[in-house]
Amino acid sequence: MKGILQIALDKAGNLVSIYDVKTGIDCDCYCPECKEPLEAKNKNKTSNKTLLPRQKVAHFAHYDGSICLSATETAIHLLAKMVLKETKMLLIPNLFHKEIEIIKARPILFDNVEVEKELESETFKIKPDIILYDYDSSYNEHTGRSKTYKSFNSKDQNVYCPKQLEKGKTNESN
Ligand SMILES: [Zn+2]
Repeated sequence: MKGILQIALDKAGNLVSIYDVKTGIDCDCYCPECKEPLEAKNKNKTSNKTLLPRQKVAHFAHYDGSICLSATETAIHLLAKMVLKETKMLLIPNLFHKEIEIIKARPILFDNVEVEKELESETFKIKPDIILYDYDSSYNEHTGRSKTYKSFNSKDQNVYCPKQLEKGKTNESN
């Protein structure tokens, strides 16, 4: 996915916006994908300023002129993880099936978030990008069902727990 790169990494590895850094190589920013130095093309541009005709939107470019096709996708991916980690919230849109509203748009709040945590069991070893926990939701050892499966359209909060997903897969046909 090629896109406009407006988020980069600073020297400390934090995500920064094109509108919050110095212009040119002085931005001291790096590509989220290849980690090469970037220059900020943001001179006299702010996030709320209307662009003139043929004026390019503020963006980062690789200092050596190379094209990095995955940079924008990686930046958005990192940003999504950061937002989930900081807010512990996922805002889901309303979902319709044949013009009937099945799920109302609402925020789902989580008790805990873990990023890039390695999980291991007898059957698999995985490292999910992010795990969102809801400790209040119940898990039925007998049926192997969690609320994620049986009440996605209810007002209950959802569970995204790896142990439950694992058991859900082995015990459930859905
Ligand atoms: Zn790159």
